[in-house]
Amino acid sequence: MTANLVTGIAELVTNDETLHGADHADGLGLLRNCAIAVEDGKVVWLGAAAKAPQADNRIDLDGCAVIPGFVDSHSHLVFAGDRSAEFAARMTGIPYDGGGIAVSVNATRAASDDELRILVARRVAEMRAQGTTTVEIKSGYGLSVEDEVRALRIAGEFTDETTFLGAHVVPTEYADHRDDYVDLVTGPMLQACAPYARWIDVFCEPHSRHAFTEDEARAVLAAGRDVGLGLRVHGNQLGHGPGVRLAVELGAASVDHCTFLSQADVDALVDAADTTTATLLPGVEFSTRSPYPDARTLIDAGVSVALASDCNPGTCYSSSMPLAIALAVREMHLTPAEALRAATAGSAKALRRDDIGRIRVGGRSDLTVLDAPSYLHLSYRPGVPIAHALNLN
Ligand SMILES: [Zn+2]
Repeated sequence: MTANLVTGIAELVTNDETLHGADHADGLGLLRNCAIAVEDGKVVWLGAAAKAPQADNRIDLDGCAVIPGFVDSHSHLVFAGDRSAEFAARMTGIPYDGGGIAVSVNATRAASDDELRILVARRVAEMRAQGTTTVEIKSGYGLSVEDEVRALRIAGEFTDETTFLGAHVVPTEYADHRDDYVDLVTGPMLQACAPYARWIDVFCEPHSRHAFTEDEARAVLAAGRDVGLGLRVHGNQLGHGPGVRLAVELGAASVDHCTFLSQADVDALVDAADTTTATLLPGVEFSTRSPYPDARTLIDAGVSVALASDCNPGTCYSSSMPLAIALAVREMHLTPAEALRAATAGSAKALRRDDIGRIRVGGRSDLTVLDAPSYLHLSYRPGVPIAHALNLN
C-alpha cells in the first residue's frame, strides 16, 4: 500500500524532459488527468489516474492543476522593523541606493531571538501558503559576528539553504574604515558563520557607496570558497558593473538581479550556463519602479535563468512567486511556460539541487496545487491567490 494518492489532477507540470507520454511542447513535461502516489516525502509513482495504485489515503483535487513547488532561491527573511514609510517616499520619487538597509540592521539587532524566529516563521508560512516549498534565506541585517551567526542559526531552523551575507552593506560604524569591515567579514565573521551556512553572497555594486567594489567582493567570495561555501552574487542591480563577470569567473551558482547587462555580460552567462544561473527578481523592479532586466535576450541567447522573490524589507516586501511569474510574463516577455520553469527547475538549478523543481519518481513530493485547470492561470490571474503548497502527512 502507498501512503498517499493525489488524484483528480487535470494538468500536471513535471518539468521532466524525459518523461514518456508527456506533452513536451511547452518544455514542461505536461501530463493530463493523472495521479501521483507519495510516500515518506517522495514521489513513488505518477501516471494516468485510471492506472493509479491503491493507497491508504486519497486526496482528490477535483480538476486542479499541480506544479512543482516554487523554489524561491533568493530571500532576506531574517529582519525586524518596518520600512513602509521608505517605500511611500520612494513612490514620490526618492531613489533607492542601499542606504535604508541600516534601518533594518538597527531593528534586527534590537530584536530578541524569539521575536526574530516568529517573524521568520510567519514569512515562511506566508510563502508556503502561496506555493513556495523551498526557500533560500540570507543573513545580512546583523552585520556583527554575533548578529550574523544568530540570523543564520534562526534561518537554519526553516531551511537548509542558508546564505551568509555579512557583505550586504558596510555597516555605518565602519563607514570611515571599510577595509576593516572586509577583514572582519573574510576573517572572524566568516569563521563563526560558516558552520551555519551553505552559501556566501555579496552585494557587489559600484553604484552604491554602501555596497562592495569588485576587489572587495572578490576577496569575500574567495574567502567563502576557501572554507567550502558555495558562491552567490548580488550583481548589476543599480547599473552596469562587474558582478556578472566576477560570478562567472569564480564559478558562482547564481548571479542575482542582472538588471543592467552589457553584451559581454550576456556572452559570459551563455558560456557559463551549466554553472552560473542568472536569477531575475522582477518584484524589485516593480517595487522600486525601475527598468526590468532584458529577460527575453537572456533566454533567447541560452542563458540559464531563474526567478525568485528577493523578499526583503527595502526593495521588495513581497514573498509571492506568482507575482514574480506574472511580472516575468507581463513586463519581461517570458512565455507563461518559461516563467514557471524559471521559478521551479530554474531556481532549483540556481541552488544546485536536482531533487526539487521537478516532479518525478524518486524526487521530493513538493507539490503545489493551483485552484485552476492549467498553469497558464498563474500569469492570467495576477494577484489572485490560486497557488498553495499541498500538505501531505
Ligand atoms: Zn537580495
